[in-house]
Amino acid sequence: MYDLIVIGGGPAGITAAVTAINRRLETLIIAERWGGQTAYFLELEDADTHQVITGEELLSRFRQQLDYLDFCRHFDRVVKVAPADDHFAVHTQDGSCFEALALIIATGAKPQRLQVPGEERLAGRGVSYSVVTHGALFLGKDVAVVGTYRRAQLAAAELSQYAHQVYLFSPELLPADWPLVPVLRRLRNVKIYEGATVLEVKGDRYVEGIVVQTVDEATLDVPVKGVFVKLPRKPNSELVRGWIDCDEDGRIKVNVYGATSHPGVFAAGDVTHVSEQVLVHIGEGAKVAVEAYGYLLGLKARER
Ligand SMILES: Cc1cc2nc3c(=O)[nH]c(=O)nc-3n(C[C@H](O)[C@H](O)[C@H](O)COP(=O)(O)OP(=O)(O)OC[C@H]3O[C@@H](n4cnc5c(N)ncnc54)[C@H](O)[C@@H]3O)c2cc1C
Repeated sequence: MYDLIVIGGGPAGITAAVTAINRRLETLIIAERWGGQTAYFLELEDADTHQVITGEELLSRFRQQLDYLDFCRHFDRVVKVAPADDHFAVHTQDGSCFEALALIIATGAKPQRLQVPGEERLAGRGVSYSVVTHGALFLGKDVAVVGTYRRAQLAAAELSQYAHQVYLFSPELLPADWPLVPVLRRLRNVKIYEGATVLEVKGDRYVEGIVVQTVDEATLDVPVKGVFVKLPRKPNSELVRGWIDCDEDGRIKVNVYGATSHPGVFAAGDVTHVSEQVLVHIGEGAKVAVEAYGYLLGLKARER
């Protein structure tokens, strides 16, 4: 029986596992693979890429500890997590079953891509999925944001502060009752197209434009240097849905300490509602491991 099983090998899972191991908890990290969505970095024609610290770089020191401790890790897909009276059983695709007194769920979220010509080829060359990380590189430039909901609205609002012109291409109508929507409509350097369908991201080596079909079926060819994809993401919370509280989009609900609605289960990273960034989730992973440690100390004290 382990003290703690961490499910997920992205920034949140890796730092959670390392933090727990450093506190001498019997820990197992189970992941399909290392790194999650961190192997990604942005290069622009006229920007110094050294401004950006890659997620890969940030995480590598933590991951090296786990690479060394091979008995603490198991690479496979978790197919079922079952709560029992005083512990949890974690089943993997290869038929193994591991048990632990506490769990950390750090399974991330599935991104939604545009799936149009040019997106994949120009990813990291003007196509970005993170305004928090790359937005500032677009000072004084024209950029496009694709999306409708909170992530897209926040992205457009943030970019409007330093980009020259922001085009918000929203596949759906912007919900009128969201507080940022009237703000965006008033901003002089934000142009909103609702019911827009992206057809192509254009550019040779770097992004040079975006081709969009508008709601009245006109085709626009808009010159931009950056395209930020901010479509909704699907949290990988299937393993715990039904016995742990999730919000309407499937994100695991956690309190400020990362505790879920079920005692002994903690969650961190993109599978929760905490904003998506490698740097943030490195901290979130460490935070929940410290909480799990406190929980286990309490359990052990009661057993004595
Ligand atoms: C295309 C893209 C570009 C991005 N660019 C940046 C950027 O430049 N800068 C930045 O800060 N952030 C960026 N982000 C966001 C950042 O990558 C995420 O916020 C971060 O990786 C989330 O960390 P996480 O640990 O929660 O989950 P993830 O990194 O998604 O890791 C999830 C882990 O869980 C594992 N897993 C999932 N389900 C199971 C299962 N059933 N069994 C076993 N293992 C499982 C996966 O294999 C993976 O190891 C980007 C995201 C995307 C999609």
